[in-house]
Amino acid sequence: MANPSLGKSFPLRVTVCVILFLFLYFIFPLNLSKFIRPHNLKYLFLFYLANIIIACYILRKNSAANYSLDSRAQEVQERFNLLSVEYSKEHKNNISLKEKYRRYSSLKSILEEINKSLDLDAVADAFASEAFSLIANNQGVCVLYLVDNQTQKLVLFKAKREDPGLVIKAKEGNIFDLWVLRHTSPLLVEDIKNDFRFDPEKLKLQDARSVSSLIAAPFISENKFLGIIRLDNTAKYFFSQDDLRFLVSVSDLGGVALENSELFKRTQDLAIHDALTSLYTKGYFAERLKGECKRCTRQKMPLSLLMLDIDLFKNYNDKFGHTAGDIVLKKVSQIITGFLNNFNPIISRFGGEEFCVIIAGLDKESALGVAETLRRRIEEEKIVLRREESHITVSIGVATFPADATEEDELIQRADKAMYKAKQKGRNRVCYI
Ligand code: GH3
Ligand code: MG
Ligand code: MG
Repeated sequence: MANPSLGKSFPLRVTVCVILFLFLYFIFPLNLSKFIRPHNLKYLFLFYLANIIIACYILRKNSAANYSLDSRAQEVQERFNLLSVEYSKEHKNNISLKEKYRRYSSLKSILEEINKSLDLDAVADAFASEAFSLIANNQGVCVLYLVDNQTQKLVLFKAKREDPGLVIKAKEGNIFDLWVLRHTSPLLVEDIKNDFRFDPEKLKLQDARSVSSLIAAPFISENKFLGIIRLDNTAKYFFSQDDLRFLVSVSDLGGVALENSELFKRTQDLAIHDALTSLYTKGYFAERLKGECKRCTRQKMPLSLLMLDIDLFKNYNDKFGHTAGDIVLKKVSQIITGFLNNFNPIISRFGGEEFCVIIAGLDKESALGVAETLRRRIEEEKIVLRREESHITVSIGVATFPADATEEDELIQRADKAMYKAKQKGRNRVCYI
């Protein structure tokens, strides 16, 4: 900022100097010359000469001082510039450190969030949400794929997107996900068009979205590849190396959490599913029957129970062996599941060669019709064992809630009795009581 006192005093000083100069070198000597004799004029000349020499000396000295001042000013300017650059670097560092601190301190909250539940769906959802908000500030897309244990392919499990209407087409992953899967290492692509590792044409076929940059990291737990998390954006250079590093830290946590929830899901599945047929176990079935009866009471609709028992299965085992018998049990369970698919049934393996089915909303008459068609469907099935064609039959007992029984246990007993009635009447038939 300009100094106003300096601005005012400067012209004043110049004026005073000019007046003093005129007085000393013109007015005063001219007046003085009137009083001195001409031969003394040489002293005046000497006076002027001495003054000129002194002035030249002062000017030279000043210019040297000015020069040294100038170079000093330049030095100061240079130092100032260096300090400015250093300051802006430090400032940027400071901002990125603050950002890192914010992210890494949120790791604890991510851990808490993903450990809140052992449910695979909830864990994956929490995980994708946290990564999307912390790394991408909820911009672009975040997708989470899990590896299907049977097909070993990636399956789209969770997607978070800035545009809620956006459809993710690559349900089994795209070229980048397959790269991560192949290399089992994280990936940063700053500008897809200029990354020669990937063919943009292939990407267009897999996903029509115009993605320009992305980061992706694998979920690995105990050397097992569980899945991938990928964040992408339409802008180039949206993600940095720091973003990728953070995503890797997060996916390390996620890998363990996802594996735990997968194990939990599998344990849960094992507890409620029969190992041979994959149908529900008797215990879980009883629980579901209770719930379904309550629901049907509330909604004032009937519920039918079908109890199936394979006829003379002991003979079958004796003839073809226990392993062949197991194959037949699996086959029967598949026929029942396939045939009743549209009824939204709850099917269980109730005992050795007994099956029980709940169909909500089905009255007795309809249930008898369905049971009869199912019985015929099973009877018609050709089973080839040791190159010999065989058939099996079932006896089915039907009971309906609340027409036949008002409690679950009573309903099961009624269906069981009906099934024994079918056995007594000669097997391969449907009965009710
Ligand atoms: P019924 O028509 O009166 O039901 O005759 P059944 O021979 O089917 O009845 P029984 O109760 O006498 O025999 C049931 C047989 O089911 C005995 C057992 O060998 C067989 N079984 C039970 N569980 C399994 C199993 O898991 N695998 C095999 N292969 N057979 C089983
Ligand atoms: Mg039997
Ligand atoms: Mg039996």
